[in-house]
Amino acid sequence: MVSLDKALIALDKSGSYRVYLAVTTTIAETAREIHGTTPVATAALGRALTAGALMGIMMKQDSDKVTLQFKGDGPAREILVTAYGTCDVKGYVSNPDIDLPLVNGKLAVGDCLGIGQLTCIRDIGLKEPYLGRIDLVSGEIADDLTAYFFISDQKESSVMLGETIAESGAVQFAAGMIIQMMPDPKEGAVDALEALLRDAPPIAKLAEEARNDVLASRGAVLTEETLARETVREMLDRFFAAIPADFRPEPLEYRDVRWNCDCSRERIEAVLLSLGRAELAKLAEEDHGAELTCQFCRSRYKFTQEEILALLKGERNPKC
Ligand SMILES: [Zn+2]
Repeated sequence: MVSLDKALIALDKSGSYRVYLAVTTTIAETAREIHGTTPVATAALGRALTAGALMGIMMKQDSDKVTLQFKGDGPAREILVTAYGTCDVKGYVSNPDIDLPLVNGKLAVGDCLGIGQLTCIRDIGLKEPYLGRIDLVSGEIADDLTAYFFISDQKESSVMLGETIAESGAVQFAAGMIIQMMPDPKEGAVDALEALLRDAPPIAKLAEEARNDVLASRGAVLTEETLARETVREMLDRFFAAIPADFRPEPLEYRDVRWNCDCSRERIEAVLLSLGRAELAKLAEEDHGAELTCQFCRSRYKFTQEEILALLKGERNPKC
């Protein structure tokens, strides 16, 4: 299914909480196609990418960058996601072939990572990036991120991430939402949200229903752009339908979110140079060249013996 991924930021009328909401179906499906993931790996990586997209829309500058690294003793080993303030997201799972039995009919996403840690690195142009680390709570990604915001940022949040996966293994819907309390919320806001969250529908199901609803009512006249926008708007309205009027969220801003890997030959050259002169000389003399694969998008970069020798001589001067 080709569709536009869209996100929205909303603030409730009382200024008590913010909502970050995104439909990320194309991001999750693109990752699956690139990495050839099994359904459970698709779900785990998709959730991490959705989390990245949601943290992307939280950032202020285009050049801001967040890296989420989930690392554990489970079969996935590591899931790494990078997102930018531009809302470009990329990611990979070390082991895309995870095969775990279903648990109560559901994908065992929590067992992919096992016992481990979530490390979050935020680079917002300061001298040093900000690094926070917590122990994984469940490996389900959403719970881990909720804990991360609470422990590391002292922010009460509720994170929902989910997906529906077709029989073929393709991602049908992927979506996520973060509800984050503002400082000094109005009395009653927390209770109203808690009541809502108790009966919250799965987020991917909400995305599917919202999209179908928009299509059914206005499908014939919608562009992809409007459909994507109306879908996230409809999700917001549906999710918060039962909240008292004082705490109803209103959209502040719509954003595009997308899969994009920013690797380039220059960057890969920088990686080669970082190996050191001895290693480079070995690659040139013993291996007569090198081939490097971008971990994020699997693009291959080939270097001949001559090109490596040129790098060694400093004939190229990569900027990054
Ligand atoms: Zn790449």
